Amino acid sequence: MTRDWKISEPIKEVDQVHCQWTDIILDDKFGITKEDWNTVIEKTVEHVHSWGEQNIARRVSCMIRLLLPQLDVLWQGKVGPNDELSFRWLPCKSLQGATVADHALTASAIAYCIGYDINPRPDIETLDKLRLSALTATWKDDGLEDVYDALWGEDPPIEPKPDGTELEQIVFMAKAVASERTKINDASEFNTHSLNENKQIGLVLGGATKIKGYFLESAKLPEIRGASALLDRINLEDVPALFGREIQDKQRYERIRKGFCKRTGHTLSAPECIIYAAGGNTLAFAPASVVHQIADEIERIYTHETLVANSVAVGDTFDLLELQYGLNPTQFWIGDFQKACEKPETAKIMHTYYGSTDKEDFLERKCFGELTSSLAGAQLKRREGNTTPDRKTHRDLPTHVEIGPYQVRCESCERRPAVINEAKVLCEACTRKYVTGRATKKQLKRGELDHYTNSINKWLPANKGENGEYLLTDWISLYNEYVELFSDVSQNYEQDPDGPNDLNDIAKSSDRENYIAFIYADGNNMGAYLENIETPAQYRQFSERVFVTMQTAAFKALAKLEPVWIKDDNDRYVFPFEIISIGGDDLLLIVPGSKVFEVVHAIGENFDSEFNSYNRLTNTDKLRLSQRYKSSKWVDAQEMQPVFSMSLGFVIAEAHTPVAFLEHLAGSLLKSAKTRAKMLIKDEVGYRGGTVDFLVLKSISMITSNLSDFRKKFYKTDTKNSLTMRPFTSHELSGFIETIKAFKEGKFPQSQLYQLRESLKLGRQTSTLDYLYFRSRLDKKDGEQLQDQIEHNWHSASDKNSNPGPWYAMLQESKTDKTGYETLLFDLIEAYDFILDPEKQNEEDNSDESND
Ligand SMILES: [Zn+2]
Repeated sequence: MTRDWKISEPIKEVDQVHCQWTDIILDDKFGITKEDWNTVIEKTVEHVHSWGEQNIARRVSCMIRLLLPQLDVLWQGKVGPNDELSFRWLPCKSLQGATVADHALTASAIAYCIGYDINPRPDIETLDKLRLSALTATWKDDGLEDVYDALWGEDPPIEPKPDGTELEQIVFMAKAVASERTKINDASEFNTHSLNENKQIGLVLGGATKIKGYFLESAKLPEIRGASALLDRINLEDVPALFGREIQDKQRYERIRKGFCKRTGHTLSAPECIIYAAGGNTLAFAPASVVHQIADEIERIYTHETLVANSVAVGDTFDLLELQYGLNPTQFWIGDFQKACEKPETAKIMHTYYGSTDKEDFLERKCFGELTSSLAGAQLKRREGNTTPDRKTHRDLPTHVEIGPYQVRCESCERRPAVINEAKVLCEACTRKYVTGRATKKQLKRGELDHYTNSINKWLPANKGENGEYLLTDWISLYNEYVELFSDVSQNYEQDPDGPNDLNDIAKSSDRENYIAFIYADGNNMGAYLENIETPAQYRQFSERVFVTMQTAAFKALAKLEPVWIKDDNDRYVFPFEIISIGGDDLLLIVPGSKVFEVVHAIGENFDSEFNSYNRLTNTDKLRLSQRYKSSKWVDAQEMQPVFSMSLGFVIAEAHTPVAFLEHLAGSLLKSAKTRAKMLIKDEVGYRGGTVDFLVLKSISMITSNLSDFRKKFYKTDTKNSLTMRPFTSHELSGFIETIKAFKEGKFPQSQLYQLRESLKLGRQTSTLDYLYFRSRLDKKDGEQLQDQIEHNWHSASDKNSNPGPWYAMLQESKTDKTGYETLLFDLIEAYDFILDPEKQNEEDNSDESND
């Protein structure tokens, strides 16, 4: 089956397919019709002509903008062939699974980096021409000749020639590195390989570490938000600016670049060098001569701007063959590997490193992913305090500030001496966080921050734009942009909403008052995928897709939470949630307690569905067995399975609970959910979807030790039986929500559920008898409802074959295990108050409509 490139639905008439490829993540076949292809080309040619007469420098930057657009454009995905941006998503014929953008940007970055190190260094015009030549080097072969002609016009590009001038050779090499690699069986073939040249390319990996520690050392929302916005600014704007990526704050852009030039003598002007920048980390190509200086500069920016956040950046240089064949291919290739596998003293090492002694596994490991793994290893070493070989400079560490006996302690971090001691008592680092958090506010009063910035030597989080607003983006402003562009909910807003002032603002929107929920989510199965990622182009595509999906999954789910008026001394219109961070593959959110189940379920589903693959669906029957919720109305009969899924952990607690404690608990719950996901993905089950775990914290003293000890104490019986069925799969979570809603809708008395729960402690047999006796005494309606929800919908495949009571045999982890039993009643009661009564929900929805 072939899926349509833009809507992902199967293409019915396959003979219409003009070009077909296998998606690098989904493993499914995708295709584009001749008609779509032609429309995209025509539109792109038109678009290029619309730039008018331009010099090469302008043409490169316009083309880069088309291939490397901003987030608000990426959110919308492939809208259709008529959109000029569709060009970047066309399949690249020179590299299977890559898009035109993936390939072109990689080729250009490589040409730039090699060209930059020519001695003497070429002028910027030559480097720009080199970039554009490499960027378009395969376009004539790839069926993009019309765009190529429109772009170059009368100007001659630098042609790729293996034996030409130095520049022609560089275009040739860049084109070859970015394209499909040739198969090498014998190491001797490397001797005549066209990439076996004495040319080096740098790769830099760097960013903040212990990010959560930095956010959450402060207890208050404005500082947490400011910390997050500041780290994002560095990661998404400051570091990219070093490579020439334009940002909204032009003054800061110039300052960063001039500072780097002053310290090192270098100015880089190729934003396509950045392979990814998200989640606090950056991976980028760099000229070999600049790698260590760039790495130093990244660490310097973090320390300089945050004063206290830790960061680690490392760089290394690789030759061109390594970019395609992994580390040192000419020194150690298949023959050497096979020999090493035969020797008993090395066989084990081979097995550990390559996963097996199989030649195919060796080849799979020898790819771009091996270079990035080695950089990640180096990053870890440096983080632990080891020096990096070939690098003279020491790590730029935040200075530790001792607090003296007579100094006032900062009220936010409670660690460092305060520099402001008034209504707020803050240290310098926390003042920066606070100022950053406030600067993103819509309703900021003129001069409101001056007092703070004066106490920290006029440090500013950003410069001001034409309308006096700070040129700074936080998650709320990004979210606002998203809903304005892609959702009609913002039409109902009474004015521009702000983020909440504190956790109480969020708690006020909870149906069960005063409760908030802290959500911690993280993608599954990505680590292994990244290790074997074949090419830089693939890496670029992967990280862009995950980053964009993570954001849209969260934004789409949050769009259901409308802004509310908080009426007190300081009336404000705010969103009832806080996005603490959305990183490369993880997510931290705070939402109202009674909304969390719906939000979590929506985020998980939004994320998983984006990575659904037909190819990964093997055995539907087995899959069904893995799901404990088996309503007769089983609707989401699975047709696909996600390649990557999301696990979520969340804790519901009162608004005054310390945020760092909530983060810690949510983190443990996430771990528990991920463990279940890892168990279910194993061959016997093969379920690839997401999982969820949660906890309702009635008081802080409930948990004195860690989560698993707590669970053992409260939910384990003296047998193998368990009093909880958490963690759930995403499907089970939707069933769980349905079950509670059904009880609420059917007006099943909550007190009866409590009564049932009590008898569970008497053991399985006694409590089952108790349960059946109890059910027989209920009136007919309640009795049937209980039987439906508890006995039929959970663990039983059909109405005929129901469970005798509130206990179900657990899915066995291995055949030798003695069967244990589990029950849902505790889980239901814990969550009961946090799932909205369907009737009430309808009322709310209707009242929203009547406001229109
Ligand atoms: Zn502080």
